[in-house]
Amino acid sequence: MNTTHCQSCGLPFDAAHESLIATEKDGSKSDYCSFCYKDGEFIQAEATIADMVEVGVPHLGRKIGEEAAREQLSAFLPTLRRWKMREELIKSNGDLISST
Ligand SMILES: [Zn+2]
Repeated sequence: MNTTHCQSCGLPFDAAHESLIATEKDGSKSDYCSFCYKDGEFIQAEATIADMVEVGVPHLGRKIGEEAAREQLSAFLPTLRRWKMREELIKSNGDLISST
């Protein structure tokens, strides 16, 4: 799979970060980095998107400033697979609740 960013925290999988790509249980490459994912499971399973933004801000903020980093991460992270899946889950649960 050609994943260019960690699908949880948005870490770019460029040449410098390639070694940080986490593996699935079977040893194949996952879509996540080793800060987020280990042996087929999320390390912080309960983390929310807001938590993940705050994790990224100090790193990205060093380059572009904290305000800009927070803005960029808040816009970018919801496009990643982990958070899209969760949003759909919440949405479908919401539908379930409102229809009963
Ligand atoms: Zn990650």
